[in-house]
Amino acid sequence: MITREVFRHFPLWMQLIFYVVGLATVAFFLYGFWRRYKKYRRGTDAERFNNLGGRFFKALGAMATNRTVYKRDAYAGAAHWMIFWGFVVLFIGTVIVAVDHDMVEMAFGAENRLLQGGFYQWFSLFLDVFGVLFLVGLLMMLFRRGAKPPQLDYKRPDLKDGQYDRSGYKKDDKAFLWLLLLIGVTGYLVEGLRISADGIPAFEVWSPVGHTLAQFFGEGLANTLHPYVWWFHGIMVLIFIAYIPYSKAMHMLLDYANLMFKDDMAAKRLPKVSEEKMKEGQGYRKIEDFTWKELLDFDSCTKCGRCHVACPANASGAPLSPRDLILDLRTYADASIGNGTSEWFGQTYAAGVKEGKAGKVAVAGDIIKADTLWACTTCMACVEACPVGIEHLTSIVNLRRTLVDSGTMENSLQDTLANIGDYGNSFGQSDRMRAKWTKELDFKIKDARKEPVEYLWFVGDYAAYDPAVQAMTRKVAGIFEKMGLDFGILYEAEKNAGNDVRRIGEEGLFEMLVEDNMAAFEEAEFKEIITTDPHSFNTLKNEYPEFGASYPVHHYTGLLCKLLDEGKLKFSKKLSHYKVTYHDPCYLGRYNGETEAPRKLLRALGVEFQEMRRCGANSFCCGAGGGRIWMDDSKLEKRPSVQRIEEALEIDGVNLFIVACPKDYTMYNDAVKSSGNEEKIAVKDIIELVEEAM
Ligand code: SF4
Ligand code: SF4
Repeated sequence: MITREVFRHFPLWMQLIFYVVGLATVAFFLYGFWRRYKKYRRGTDAERFNNLGGRFFKALGAMATNRTVYKRDAYAGAAHWMIFWGFVVLFIGTVIVAVDHDMVEMAFGAENRLLQGGFYQWFSLFLDVFGVLFLVGLLMMLFRRGAKPPQLDYKRPDLKDGQYDRSGYKKDDKAFLWLLLLIGVTGYLVEGLRISADGIPAFEVWSPVGHTLAQFFGEGLANTLHPYVWWFHGIMVLIFIAYIPYSKAMHMLLDYANLMFKDDMAAKRLPKVSEEKMKEGQGYRKIEDFTWKELLDFDSCTKCGRCHVACPANASGAPLSPRDLILDLRTYADASIGNGTSEWFGQTYAAGVKEGKAGKVAVAGDIIKADTLWACTTCMACVEACPVGIEHLTSIVNLRRTLVDSGTMENSLQDTLANIGDYGNSFGQSDRMRAKWTKELDFKIKDARKEPVEYLWFVGDYAAYDPAVQAMTRKVAGIFEKMGLDFGILYEAEKNAGNDVRRIGEEGLFEMLVEDNMAAFEEAEFKEIITTDPHSFNTLKNEYPEFGASYPVHHYTGLLCKLLDEGKLKFSKKLSHYKVTYHDPCYLGRYNGETEAPRKLLRALGVEFQEMRRCGANSFCCGAGGGRIWMDDSKLEKRPSVQRIEEALEIDGVNLFIVACPKDYTMYNDAVKSSGNEEKIAVKDIIELVEEAM
């Protein structure tokens, strides 16, 4: 008969032992799972239960295609795809074997089993092929670990060697891969021994790996070895099942849930603070302040290190690694709720917090140091790079809110916030000075509060007040005027948009700015908003609608592209003498996916254009965001902006570094000067090229 025996010649008592141990294993698995569930129940609501069907299938698509793992790391993506699908097929195969043996055969007799004849042969072939993929994927991952890429280095930027212990994680990483490899290899061995012990039936060529292995054993030896290897394989499988909820293996289940409940607007639109919370103190003070999704985030981290290597703070020697931040919050969460550690290979609590003492220390300040939280440039690279949907930035800002509440921040930052509160701008200048840059224009810009316009130009603080950027702002105005755009500004009624204020964690001030700007919008008559500032662009587009100000918002590069398409923007000459590269501002490219418009303009301008190593959504931050531009960066080993200029200079013959953000203009001009590269490269806003070509 074309089939196989599950418990080949095993006496009944031996089979019963397997079932008893199997049931105990499942109970242990469920207990571990329940402990985790209990932990997430402690969190506050995260409002992620809308559109459950859509969320379910979106996460399913991400898992099935492996798209989030493949992104930024094709090797790891390919290996993970093989392990994932190998595991899924082998798991489904095992379930079919169990159902066939324990239900179909018992209920309908051996002659009615599913696993016989042609179905059995195809089944065997399918499982053998996916088993090979599974093993190849595991070997690739083991090889990669051996090669020690920087993202898998557990070295922390905030602590010295000896001040922390990552040996548990290292053991867990190894245990996970080796356990799976052992299960895969012994599975094939059991198959080979069984086929050999059965005299190598001809139909077993449908199990090509087992059939090949069977040739290496004599029938007698195979008969002797089979039960031992079978039990070894079976026990390894049961150990793995028991190990899942207490280890890295849990990511197989958690990461699906984390992707399913991910907020697509994470970081782009920060969570509001309720009135009640505002009164009692914004931010997070205890573990119960985190949402259940954040608690799930902490456990979902696979320690892949993609965020760690993408982070500009980490790259500049600041005491922040988003990976370590998430892992510290994980150990803190475990300690705070008396869960011991949720993993077998528990960690030394990074901030010296032992179980039971976690409630007596401050999460923002003690567990996660203030310097670590203030080092974040809110560039969102971590959120974008994370393959499992972790929303680092939401937690960082919520923890910053606690620091803001207690006044734990640099004086320069405190002064800037005071300026914004008092004058509505970060320069601390009178609001009457906001439109002073227009005085040098040879035409008058409409006041949108006095006459209706099609486009309201939200100028932003840097473009309006910074003397180094004002010339650029006038060029933008001149081009808008030349193209006959019907536009106006709010003059002194415009206030700082609040994007960075919100990311600093000053939610009260942010809401005040939103109210002021909304009042000015209501006074004016316009259809759409344009801005040159990607930071203002982000908050006006993604956050203001929650407060009731919902308008179409354009970055000027997008608008210029539209005018180019309509034939209204025309260039009279090609700028082929420039060899340029373009820097995607975080708040334009990564936050809002606007990467094509500036490139389209550059193509139309006829410049010789070459991308830097990191571009588009993978762009590297200038270091200014999230209030960093107002903080001291003298302690950094090498500022992100200087690193970026050096990256541009890797391109042979590049002479222009193109930006599309007023803050970038300031940051990179400064970086070129301070790194002594003025002879080699110049920084220009894209508008300067547009003007030159017109
Ligand atoms: S937002 Fe940017 S700077 Fe902040 S932790 Fe993430 S990668 Fe690092
Ligand atoms: S937070 Fe995400 S990107 Fe960072 S190490 Fe963990 S899984 Fe990887």
